[in-house]
Amino acid sequence: MSIGHRERVLAADKRYLWHPYTAMERYINETNPLVVERAEGSRLFDVDGRSYIDGNAQWWTALLGHNHPRLTQALREQTLLLCHTSLAGVTHEAAALFAEELVQVAPQGLSKVFLSDNGSTAVEAAIKLCAQYWAQNGAPERTRFVSLKGAFHGETLGVSALGGMSEFRAPFEPLLFCCTHLASPADGLEHALSELERELDEHGARTAAIVLEPLVQGASGMRIYAPEYLLRARELADACGALLVLDEVFTGYGRTGRMWAADHGPIVPDVLCSAKGLSGGLLPFAATLTTERLFEGFWGSDARAFFYGHTFAGNPLGARVAREVLAVYRDESILEHASVKAKRLQDGFLRLAELENVRNVRGLGMIAALDLAGGPGYLERSGWRVYNEALRRGAYVRPLGQVVYLTPPLNISDADLDELLDIVYESVAAVAAD
Ligand code: PMP
Repeated sequence: MSIGHRERVLAADKRYLWHPYTAMERYINETNPLVVERAEGSRLFDVDGRSYIDGNAQWWTALLGHNHPRLTQALREQTLLLCHTSLAGVTHEAAALFAEELVQVAPQGLSKVFLSDNGSTAVEAAIKLCAQYWAQNGAPERTRFVSLKGAFHGETLGVSALGGMSEFRAPFEPLLFCCTHLASPADGLEHALSELERELDEHGARTAAIVLEPLVQGASGMRIYAPEYLLRARELADACGALLVLDEVFTGYGRTGRMWAADHGPIVPDVLCSAKGLSGGLLPFAATLTTERLFEGFWGSDARAFFYGHTFAGNPLGARVAREVLAVYRDESILEHASVKAKRLQDGFLRLAELENVRNVRGLGMIAALDLAGGPGYLERSGWRVYNEALRRGAYVRPLGQVVYLTPPLNISDADLDELLDIVYESVAAVAAD
């Protein structure tokens, strides 16, 4: 594709588009962004035909790589049949069979599936579900929500209240509902456990739910913690009667080495939120799973219905693709292969520890991360220097502040993974030498 094409896209982009999580003044004046034209497997291709290995599977969604032929074929077929109907008094094959198939791979005990559009809505639905459940089942005093410092659960005002990253909360602080943010086990297990015990000891009877990103706090910097915390959170929630919500929007579908991070406990939450990889990175689609017990709390008259439902909930295109994702997981033994790949990723990342600007190399499953020396925080720019070095060498490695990390597609080829690791090594080394 010609240079003219890039210029045409950029002219419209810089004139009209407002990008997410982007300081637009710097973007417009200084950034020469990647202009992607197509993608295949673990690679993005720009308008000039250059390829870039996708180091983070596009915000952690393309777990089966880009444009997996079975997913695009399923999508094509579904578009000819039915693109959309709401789930308001109507149903269709794709949503019904997807729900059945998702329950089959979910932690046992989660047997009902509520569909929505994205990770934020999956969690928003979860908190409203818990709130309404208590309001209409004899415990209206259970209105407290507990989450963790450093948590990230999405974008809506509701889930922003659960979020524990100050950068993202600050502009909206006065508008957020009250939520208790406890010490994160990623900053020390013992201290976090004792805070959780104290909190539930004092306020357990008024607690609606504990909401956790299980095992990895992704957005706040791939902060990993031990499964012991999940086990204890399950016990303590049970002891005081509170619900346990796991936000598996990032960790689900094999990212941490098992289908669900909950499986590392193993524990079964009362509510599990899934999105991102659920639809293979093709379409916005999400699911909030719950137990029979919670479902029965909505049994009865019209006034007891769950008052929540997005226009595109259960969209047939998303549901059909989500079914095909599960089929590919089965047929291509994605989880089994990913465990071998995970070792390759972790071993490759460990090499980076020898670089003088690298701290705290860590990993779990198909997640590997490090901190660059210097100030911590999402607004720190050092990771962006690595990003630019990597882009020049043919890889897309968007950082989280000073955290450089890889979360490639689970089925990335060994050759691409090795090349990606080499590029990250060279890019981090180049920044150290600067
Ligand atoms: N929960 C978690 C744990 C996430 O990581 C994210 C997105 N990064 C969300 C929720 C929100 O998902 P979405 O961007 O699809 O709304």
